[in-house]
Amino acid sequence: MENPVKKMAELLKGGATMLAETCPVQGCNLPLFRLRTGEILCPIHGKVYIVKTEEEEKRVREELTVKTILNRLEKYVLTILNTYIENKTLSTRELIEWLEVLERIYRIKNAARTK
Ligand SMILES: [Zn+2]
Repeated sequence: MENPVKKMAELLKGGATMLAETCPVQGCNLPLFRLRTGEILCPIHGKVYIVKTEEEEKRVREELTVKTILNRLEKYVLTILNTYIENKTLSTRELIEWLEVLERIYRIKNAARTK
């Protein structure tokens, strides 16, 4: 396992802020760090989410589920497009339709990011 003190020093050097909250992973209890991007990290466990209410937790869970589904969908579409490039099995019309699907996935992802 990586040395957490070393990682903490790296985070601080990189401009991260140490927070009063500690890592929610059981038995960890290391201080959390906020990056300039707003992401919150545990030096060992990586990205974590701080939620103060059950409602907030529900929202974060839903967002993560949406992100997972979109990522899987993106991979699926890319696989299809890749197959098209290799085998030319799709018609141009189908290709355009798949590209539109891909565009929508990216649009939803961007909208979720800027919220
Ligand atoms: Zn942790």
